[in-house]
Amino acid sequence: MSTVEHTIKLYNSLKGQKEEFKPLHPGYVGMYVCGPTVYSDVHLGNCRTFTSFDIIYRYLMHIGYKVRYVRNITDVGHLTDEGEDRMSKGARVAQLEPMEVAQKYTVGFHDMMRIFNTLPPSIEPRATGHIPEQIKMVQDIMERGYGYERNGSVYFNVRKFDQENPGVYGNLSGRVLDDLLAESREGLKSQGEKDNPVDFAIWMKARSGDIMVWESPWSVGFPGWHLECSAMSTKYLGQTFDIHGGGNDLKFPHHENEIAQNLGSCGCTPANYWLHANMLLLNGKKMSKSDGNTITPMELFTGESPFVTKGYSPMVVKFFMLMAHYRSTLDITDEALQAAEKGFRRLMETNSILQKMDPHTADFDGSESDTDRTILRLIDEAYAGMDDDFNTAIALATLNELGSYVHKLANQQLDHTEVAPWVLERLKTIFNAFIFDIFGLNDEADGGDDGTVDGLMQLILDIRAAARAQKDWGTSDKIRDGLAAVGIAVKDGKEGTNWTKG
Ligand code: AMP
Ligand code: ZN
Repeated sequence: MSTVEHTIKLYNSLKGQKEEFKPLHPGYVGMYVCGPTVYSDVHLGNCRTFTSFDIIYRYLMHIGYKVRYVRNITDVGHLTDEGEDRMSKGARVAQLEPMEVAQKYTVGFHDMMRIFNTLPPSIEPRATGHIPEQIKMVQDIMERGYGYERNGSVYFNVRKFDQENPGVYGNLSGRVLDDLLAESREGLKSQGEKDNPVDFAIWMKARSGDIMVWESPWSVGFPGWHLECSAMSTKYLGQTFDIHGGGNDLKFPHHENEIAQNLGSCGCTPANYWLHANMLLLNGKKMSKSDGNTITPMELFTGESPFVTKGYSPMVVKFFMLMAHYRSTLDITDEALQAAEKGFRRLMETNSILQKMDPHTADFDGSESDTDRTILRLIDEAYAGMDDDFNTAIALATLNELGSYVHKLANQQLDHTEVAPWVLERLKTIFNAFIFDIFGLNDEADGGDDGTVDGLMQLILDIRAAARAQKDWGTSDKIRDGLAAVGIAVKDGKEGTNWTKG
């Protein structure tokens, strides 16, 4: 039974319009988001996309959905424009094992996601951990007649797919197959051994020097980049699932090819709703690792970049991202960051004033004032903003408007009796809910010892809970005994696990 009472509208790139969100199974959401290619440090543009989907994940859970959020790690198959695997190139340049490169940048990515206070996904599959699933998908595609082998590589037959599924290929990204064909002819794009320049590789035979290779029925080689997301979304969310997300730049060819592969292998449309986050710009141009127009998150935090006059804290940067809707482009400028810094500090300060306010119960006569009605309407508007395609900009602006009532109450411009006790309680609850649960902000001023210890304890207890779920009593006891040794007692009860410091 679903407990979700909100009607969510979301912009479905597949239809080019906003639609009411109807999950396949009431109360449950399956969401797949394309993760990073771990061959270099994650950049701020990536952070914006993952933060946007984190907020979507958090909001869906907040309103009562059980969400399975799958976000992959691309550690093979994503080629450079010159046709070299990005991971292998990273390894060759740094003289490391490809898996060392993947590990290094995966850890860095996780650290950054933690700094931005995003939640880990429910499942984070790696492409290299799913080679058999990808080989099986190539076989299925070939069996259904959409794949052909040439010299040990296998290609997806886009022309045939288009003839048998008219209007599908190109629909998501608004491309027309004939235009794509003309473009590739004009650009004299080498068709190589492919039957048609628009065909794409689903299995590639290794060339000499390729280091990330696997056995397959066709050759020793590696899967095409687009294949991993088709195979892993199917494995963990089913052949058809609710939401597929990623950055705008992935619409073509990545997502277009994903849809073709899923339909080509099983005749089923993968996701019902495709969500695309817009690009983060720097100086009006897309921020991108490949062309050097980038500022690293660390440079932004420390201020060591020609693009900024000073450093901005992670929560200020996150707040800056929240000030725009995820489907709008967002241009990083120093002035906008300064405004975000003010806005973030004001919101946190408002909340701390609000949380300390006492309700006026003594002389409350039970009536509802105009102020009460306005506050309740604004609360509804904040939710309506999020229900309308997760518009954080509207929700934030509405919280600011609500904040003005908090300040009026605090400096007695507004009499306390104007706000009913239960309305004040609701205001407190929703401020905390929006700031901490939905936006995933944290109070940096509060991030001293207590905050750190709480966070660490939560992490340790989560690891222990996971060990217990797997009946790994050794690890569970080791954690309990280790904590006891430093004076922390862990108590397991019906409501979960608590800890106290003796
Ligand atoms: P990559 O590691 O390049 O595969 O990208 C990981 C994710 O970040 C993908 O969803 C991309 O679409 C997204 N992304 C890449 N560049 C930007 C950018 N400048 N702004 C926002 N998202 C981006
Ligand atoms: Zn993907």
